[in-house]
Amino acid sequence: MSHVVVLGAGLGGVLMAYEMKAKLGPSDKLTVVNLGPVYSFVPSNPWVAVGWRKREETSVELAPVFAKRGIALRPEGAKRVHPAENRIELTNGESVPYDYLIVATGPDLAFDEVPGLGPAGNTSSICHIDHAERARAAVGALIKSGGPAIIGAVQGASCFGPAYEFAFILDTALRRAKARDRVPMTFVTPEPYIGHLGLDGVGDTKGLLESAMREHHIKWITNAKVTKVESGKMFVEEVDEAGATKASHELPFAFSMMLPAFRGIPAVHGIEGLTNPRGFIAIDKYQRNPVFKNVFGVGVAVAIPPVGKTPLPVGVPKTGFMIESMVTATAENVAALIAGKEPEAVATWNAVCLADFGDEGIAFIAQPQIPLRNVNWSSQGKWVHTAKVGFEKYFLRKIRQGKSETFYERLALDALGIRKLKEIHTEPAA
Ligand SMILES: Cc1cc2nc3c(=O)[nH]c(=O)nc-3n(C[C@H](O)[C@H](O)[C@H](O)COP(=O)(O)OP(=O)(O)OC[C@H]3O[C@@H](n4cnc5c(N)ncnc54)[C@H](O)[C@@H]3O)c2cc1C
Repeated sequence: MSHVVVLGAGLGGVLMAYEMKAKLGPSDKLTVVNLGPVYSFVPSNPWVAVGWRKREETSVELAPVFAKRGIALRPEGAKRVHPAENRIELTNGESVPYDYLIVATGPDLAFDEVPGLGPAGNTSSICHIDHAERARAAVGALIKSGGPAIIGAVQGASCFGPAYEFAFILDTALRRAKARDRVPMTFVTPEPYIGHLGLDGVGDTKGLLESAMREHHIKWITNAKVTKVESGKMFVEEVDEAGATKASHELPFAFSMMLPAFRGIPAVHGIEGLTNPRGFIAIDKYQRNPVFKNVFGVGVAVAIPPVGKTPLPVGVPKTGFMIESMVTATAENVAALIAGKEPEAVATWNAVCLADFGDEGIAFIAQPQIPLRNVNWSSQGKWVHTAKVGFEKYFLRKIRQGKSETFYERLALDALGIRKLKEIHTEPAA
């Protein structure tokens, strides 16, 4: 009998639990340790922030679904992982021992790295449902009173898609409220160019996003380092290719939503051999930690090196489909170890992204996510908004039903030529 523990019940963790459960034998045990008993669909947060969704529409109570599937839930959350002792210390002081641990804890939001940044300071956030709900009130005030808005991400951020999404969604919400003419908007980003996305662009994301910003009257500052944020004022240094300051800006704002840099959560940060200096789980191509070989990592929690050199630090996004490929590979590999075999499954890390603008959007496929690529495609249209809404409904239903990949999803993925694991992508260890 093996005890597998999944740490974190977000997008990666819940799917991980479902896929792992399907591979375990009747005598094996599966436990999920999460901060709280609720799953929240993070990609809906930009809609929550403008009032197009409510918390209950994008959340799922996990206990009943897990109980039906025979998965134990510990909602106390982890205080510290002790990989040398094969146990997780919970916040209530109890311990959960494991034979195999899969870390899926998402990001710790590093607002503290820029003075005045974040919901406890002077800017809004959409990274968490609580933040998005608070942002909703701030958006309401903006619609009422008008004034400049700054949207974007700070240096070290890796998740740029939602920043662009939110800029265009806010633009749509303001237009619908007939308040857009009173809100000059600026997009502030450390990316070296609009549409870089931490991926050195995908297809023509540079051209598509620049053009969309011009059409929507959104100005931008790239290579932008936010040094501090005061109430109603953001201090930004614009750097040149060598990283030297070429202009300093003091930008007034009535509303600002800036994505922070991410780092690993405190429960794993600083564990020698387990994490990199930012606290992300070090993994090999099998999603497995090279030091603690019964520990795996999936999702935003894992360490991925940046794509090429940029004047300011710009991380690589870990997007939904890429995370799903990590999940599938990890389920295969943990099941192999339990069966006394060696891991061989390697995730493709393909990125399939739908960036919603509120009434249309941009889609891109990067296959694999990190260049050089076999597929490097982007496109724009109203269908993207429809597809994103459809995906939200479909994904939440999947979580509520306790299923990972349905037969129909597999068929659709096959038809599109996108597979979570590269065809017969197994790589035996040397
Ligand atoms: C606003 C936003 C929008 C996004 N939109 C998209 C999109 O449209 N498409 C796309 O492909 N990607 C999108 N992403 C990127 C990515 O898909 C999501 O961030 C996704 O939720 C990441 O999944 P995850 O499982 O790694 O982390 P999360 O979904 O964040 O889950 C982490 C889980 O770990 C838990 N946890 C944290 N600390 C502890 C602890 N100490 N103990 C126990 N549990 C803990 C948390 O409670 C949470 O349940 C978006 C990201 C953001 C921030």
